[in-house]
Amino acid sequence: MVSIWDTNIQFLQGVGPRRAGELEKELNIKTFDDLIRHYPFRYIDRTRFYAINEIDPELAYIQIRGVVRDMKIVGSGPRKQRLVILLADPTGTVELVFFKGVRWIKDKIMLHTEYIVFGKPTLFNGRINLVHPDMDIPDDQGLRGSAGLQAVYSSTESLRDRGFTQKIFSRLIAQTLTRLEGHITETLPDTLIRTLKLMPLAMALEEIHFPKNLKNLQAAQTRLKFEELFYIQLGLLRQRSVRLRAEDGLPFLSVGKAFRDCYNKLPFELTGAQKRVIKEIRADLKSGQQMNRLLQGDVGSGKTLVALLSALIAVDNGFQACIMAPTEILANQHYQTVCRFLEGQDVQIALLTGSTRQADRKVLHEALLDGSLDLLIGTHALIEDTVTFKNLGFVVIDEQHRFGVEQRARLWKKTEGSPPHILVMTATPIPRTLAMTLYGDLDISVIDDMPPGRQPVQTVRYPASRRSAVYTFMRGQIREGRQVYIVYPLIRESEKLDYENLETGYRDITAAFPAPLYSVAVVHGQQKAEDKAFDMNMFVKGKAQILIATSVIEVGVDVPNATVMVIESAERFGLSQLHQLRGRVGRGAEKSYCILMTGNALSKEARERLKLMCESNNGFEIAEADMRLRGPGDLEGTAQSGLAFDLHIANLAKDGQILEWARLEAGKILDEDPLLEQPKNKLLQHQLKVLGNRQADYSKIS
Ligand code: ADP
Ligand code: MG
Repeated sequence: MVSIWDTNIQFLQGVGPRRAGELEKELNIKTFDDLIRHYPFRYIDRTRFYAINEIDPELAYIQIRGVVRDMKIVGSGPRKQRLVILLADPTGTVELVFFKGVRWIKDKIMLHTEYIVFGKPTLFNGRINLVHPDMDIPDDQGLRGSAGLQAVYSSTESLRDRGFTQKIFSRLIAQTLTRLEGHITETLPDTLIRTLKLMPLAMALEEIHFPKNLKNLQAAQTRLKFEELFYIQLGLLRQRSVRLRAEDGLPFLSVGKAFRDCYNKLPFELTGAQKRVIKEIRADLKSGQQMNRLLQGDVGSGKTLVALLSALIAVDNGFQACIMAPTEILANQHYQTVCRFLEGQDVQIALLTGSTRQADRKVLHEALLDGSLDLLIGTHALIEDTVTFKNLGFVVIDEQHRFGVEQRARLWKKTEGSPPHILVMTATPIPRTLAMTLYGDLDISVIDDMPPGRQPVQTVRYPASRRSAVYTFMRGQIREGRQVYIVYPLIRESEKLDYENLETGYRDITAAFPAPLYSVAVVHGQQKAEDKAFDMNMFVKGKAQILIATSVIEVGVDVPNATVMVIESAERFGLSQLHQLRGRVGRGAEKSYCILMTGNALSKEARERLKLMCESNNGFEIAEADMRLRGPGDLEGTAQSGLAFDLHIANLAKDGQILEWARLEAGKILDEDPLLEQPKNKLLQHQLKVLGNRQADYSKIS
């Protein structure tokens, strides 16, 4: 059914095919619906007027009122021409400058006439001016909701250059709202609107664009944000209901010898959080429903052990398990750790990575098929088509963000019959709001305490100019038998440049730490696997005191004797990544240090980020801050997994409370009607379908 919402905007007055084309190209606005949902990103209080002598280039958008005293076109040639208008009020004069549409504007503006001017002050050649401001005759208030709060819409340079002003946005939206009058049907059930005291949709759309006052604006924002988050949560939670109702999970009813032997032989006591999470997983495995659980925990919090013990439950119940790591180094390390924990036990373990030899692979594939292999540890190689299990019952995906959505989905097809239970582990703490949205249909476990005896890593920032002091400190630590990491940033655009960076660094370091007194290992992305493994091993075995690396070491590597992490050009890393890197040290009993080397010219934001690193050792706190500073889209690990939900108005960094509220309400509805089959939930069902058509299917990710 075609609705008026789908009307192409070219049918609006003053649009036409060309403008419509521009709007589509620049902002992806095609229909009435798109235009109405192009919500303002902020509002300006246009009741406040500045005096001209108060104008400061530091100010954001301001409004002034004055008379046009003079007007001239200066410069020659179509590119260099500009229109300069001199505006005066009783306190002084200011220049208004136009580079585009010069003649057209000059014809429109009248000398000796009073205007309300709105724009952003800038400093040019020592003089303050306003470039391309909006100019209105004072009583020109033909717009709606002129109470002073004026919407500001995001736009693009190209649109602005074509004279597509904020005023035009407002006009088009006003026109669209008029055309839609009587056609705006409510998208939330009446009962919700009433019990939650939400503003009705028609009113909210009006108020969001043309607020009558601040109170209405806030109510409109709340309503629209709530709705957006509510449907996302309802969709996710319903997927979860569907999964749980399928009841095709493999029931692992008992804990057996493999689990108990490993548990009893542990050289330490599990932390409270580890025990709690194992209980949560145990309950899932017994339930007869398929587990899909996300395990979050800071680096070093002991996730690997939780994963292993859980996998052993599958083995105890006669099933196979696999643990998948993002890199070969990590797969190797997991393999060694697991072998150590399972020494002397009758559990058949194997390692499969890109460098496993063909002959060994064949043997391994057979053992997987006939069921003689219990636990397979590996990399991406695990999801190759040739790998088939006899009865895969449990899958651990470590550091999930390195795996693409596609790759994870392929794991489902590795075994016949019921799908395996899935445990996704991440050491990149994800703020709760983001986790609830990205992984909203998964259950979430958090390891929120550390094994005893961990000291926080002391973190300091050093400008590159004080490198020699850092070297001295490193020598001191090495003299005491400790080891040091030095990490260089990966600059995505150019692997070659990264490598050069690292190579220069390597030369400096080997000059400052010469053989045979010191031994320096190097690990980077362009190395052959054998070379990488060789150098890595040198460091792991303590034969090299210094490891120079690109951020490939960021995840998982465990060398308890390493106590210093030097991060070069630290300002280039995101907070979560810095935290990951820092987690490589402080794993042993010795006090550890993280040294953030920076260039001299730092942006304010970079300074703030690094300051936070120096002050906090808490991954969740850092992740929250990262999200606030950079926005959820750029957050580590989420860029790749992709936020499938196009948020128009809600902001995960700021609207956590509304999100919790929306999830709670969605949960209540599903508790009563898990598949939304009751007649009163018809609207919800319908809306989910409409929205679902715009979103990716998230039910089978992991
Ligand atoms: P994560 O994978 O969460 O980064 P790991 O599982 O690699 O952390 O654990 C880090 C280190 O702590 C490992 O050497 C591990 O053996 C050790 N460890 C794990 N749990 C405990 C515990 N409860 N008490 C002491 N040490 C532990
Ligand atoms: Mg780990």
